[in-house]
Amino acid sequence: MKASQLLEFLVSTPSVSGNEGNIASNLSEILSDEGFGIQREGNSIWFTLGKGERPHLLLLSHLDTVPPCASWNGDPFKAHIEDGKLIGLGANDAKGSVAAMIITAREIQNRNVEGSITFAFVADEERGGEGIRTIKPKLGDIDAAVVGEPTGLQVCTAQRGLLILRCTAHGKASHAAHAHLGENAIHKAARDISRLAVMEFDGHEDLGTSRTEVTQITGGLARNQVPDRCEFFVDMRTTPNLDHATIADEIAATLESEVAIHSHRYEPVETNGSEVVVRAALEAANASAGIGSVTTSDWAFLKGIPAVKVGPGHTNRSHRPNEYLLLSELEKGVAFYSRFIHTYFRMAAKEVAHV
Ligand SMILES: [Zn+2]
Repeated sequence: MKASQLLEFLVSTPSVSGNEGNIASNLSEILSDEGFGIQREGNSIWFTLGKGERPHLLLLSHLDTVPPCASWNGDPFKAHIEDGKLIGLGANDAKGSVAAMIITAREIQNRNVEGSITFAFVADEERGGEGIRTIKPKLGDIDAAVVGEPTGLQVCTAQRGLLILRCTAHGKASHAAHAHLGENAIHKAARDISRLAVMEFDGHEDLGTSRTEVTQITGGLARNQVPDRCEFFVDMRTTPNLDHATIADEIAATLESEVAIHSHRYEPVETNGSEVVVRAALEAANASAGIGSVTTSDWAFLKGIPAVKVGPGHTNRSHRPNEYLLLSELEKGVAFYSRFIHTYFRMAAKEVAHV
């Protein structure tokens, strides 16, 4: 199965988050037949090349997709090729990266690896990262990782995190005609939302500044009653220089409403440019500097492991109708991952020799 056929097979096997059973089984069967020692936990699969020696490199991507939106032209679950594009749900995010990594694994399968490489293709990336969080403790010590997501093969060395706050304004209910007896919780929330709009946070070199976005609000039970409660959610895309707990405290100190952390598990991450994984990826991409990425990914769950995010395709095609990957991008993805692995182990060996 050549690269385009593999991607066609992956795209034509539906795998909306929560329904990755078929793709995990079918892909495991194909890879087992090719001699890879597949391991599986839930609907996440992985295999390791090499004899378990260090350095241990992880190549990670995801098997699941978001559900298709309504405005697709054809069947989103049926891959078709047109003008050099492979169109179908997940072609870009992230089955193109999965296909490119598998073709790369085949190329090096029977070669001597100076260390070991684990290829992991996980479930549930699009709705919380359960896949990687479950298998990570089973992968052993990892020295460096590459997360396969559509970045146009640009090397992302920093990624925004996500902090969601649940804010509750408490007031006192009364008849709207006797408003002086009450305390309007919606008014209190409105004052807080205005405060949030002008709050400023320290910026990050590659990712810029962070701001808060109020994304949902509920309050009030009747049109003639002063409301005693108003709840709103704040979405904040954080940068690695900001600590989630500190930001939450700072916001709590600024607002009249009660502030609770609703979700903070997508931590912002970044990898120093001096790390071998960054230098190797930049050399393989023929680039001089890494870039920052605003979208979260399973990289958030690899905190502490030097990692970069890089893969074929473009992030602005993800989660949209008629998602596609150019077959030329797929080929370039394979070439990139092969070059990267070779460069990484060469640089890592040199590093050890210098110590
Ligand atoms: Zn993705």
